[in-house]
Amino acid sequence: MSKPLIVITGASSGIGAATAQVFAAAGHPLLLLARRLEPMLELQLPNALCCAVDIRDAEAMNRALEAAGAQYGPVDCLVNNAGVMLNAPFIEGDPQQWSEMIDINLKGALNGMRIVARDMANRQSGSIINIGSIAGRKTFDNHAVYCGTKFALHAITETVRQELAGSKVRLITIAPGMVETELVNHTTHEASREGWRSYAGQIGGALSAQSIAQAILWSYQMPQSVCVREMVICPTGQEP
Ligand code: NDP
Repeated sequence: MSKPLIVITGASSGIGAATAQVFAAAGHPLLLLARRLEPMLELQLPNALCCAVDIRDAEAMNRALEAAGAQYGPVDCLVNNAGVMLNAPFIEGDPQQWSEMIDINLKGALNGMRIVARDMANRQSGSIINIGSIAGRKTFDNHAVYCGTKFALHAITETVRQELAGSKVRLITIAPGMVETELVNHTTHEASREGWRSYAGQIGGALSAQSIAQAILWSYQMPQSVCVREMVICPTGQEP
């Protein structure tokens, strides 16, 4: 393969699936990770290894990356995209759901970063693109723990960026606003879920996952000497 390997987590739907499509169209071999295998296979992308992996399982993730590396060479870019948003007013929150958000959005992303960062630093090349959120920059009612995971992810990404700048490794935060995906469907608190949908309707709709995927690809395709540190991308009509 003339183009290097890209790893995308959460590639079974939404932003991750759209990102897989744009990187495949750009000619990259891919490793796609998510818990559901079928939707990744249904994308029918060329040179794409699809693995059913829960990113909370660092060992399983490591095995999948090693197998992909053996086939396609070193990972040039990891897109840490997998995430969940389980909103509710704090006093009605379910600690089980809090743990899920912390373990997937934060520790899952750390698992991926840990696997690739040392090798990228040794090679003096590579990019880690973490999908944060507008909720990693400002707070929203009913989003306390989700905001916490995204604020933390932004802080970790920026800190690691500083640490790896001398090794020529890029750390990029992409922070979307409202995007039309499956994300909000998993919120079990009905008023939070319906509030999201109703506001998206009021502003003429959320962004498409393709718009975010294009921004991810653009930030990656800038020369390795250019680091797009952070991009915040929202529907024009989104007020907060
Ligand atoms: P989706 O729900 O459509 O996609 C989430 C993806 O994450 C799925 O592919 C899901 O796959 C995967 N995933 C969830 N948990 C795990 C896990 N434990 N292990 C592996 N994969 C997992 O939502 P989006 O595309 O919207 O979300 C992608 C990212 O974008 C998230 O980090 C989200 O926080 C962020 N974001 C989204 C916004 C929006 O408005 N949609 C706004 C700002 C940020 P599976 O269930 O098969 O494991």
